[in-house]
Amino acid sequence: MPSQSTMSLKSWSRVVQERDHHTCQKCGTQTGRLVAHHIVPRKDNPSLTFELTNGKTLCYICHSVVHKICYDCLLDNPSITDVLSRYRPKQKSKE
Ligand SMILES: [Zn+2]
Ligand SMILES: [Zn+2]
Repeated sequence: MPSQSTMSLKSWSRVVQERDHHTCQKCGTQTGRLVAHHIVPRKDNPSLTFELTNGKTLCYICHSVVHKICYDCLLDNPSITDVLSRYRPKQKSKE
């Protein structure tokens, strides 16, 4: 699949998020910043970098948790605090 190698990370990320209907695959949110996460880290298997089945849409918060990024560091960022405030109230189950 030679065309895959010409795919940019940006377009890969876009396709993954479109496939997942712009919904976090962990908590189900559709608000806030969404990112395409590599299930198998690129450093572990670079050949899977543009593999769509290796991509998963996560919100910024869940992505941070997956990568074990310091939560408190995120709180220093005002735009993230805004996301958190929407995230924290227990989400009622909806469609
Ligand atoms: Zn999430
Ligand atoms: Zn990731």
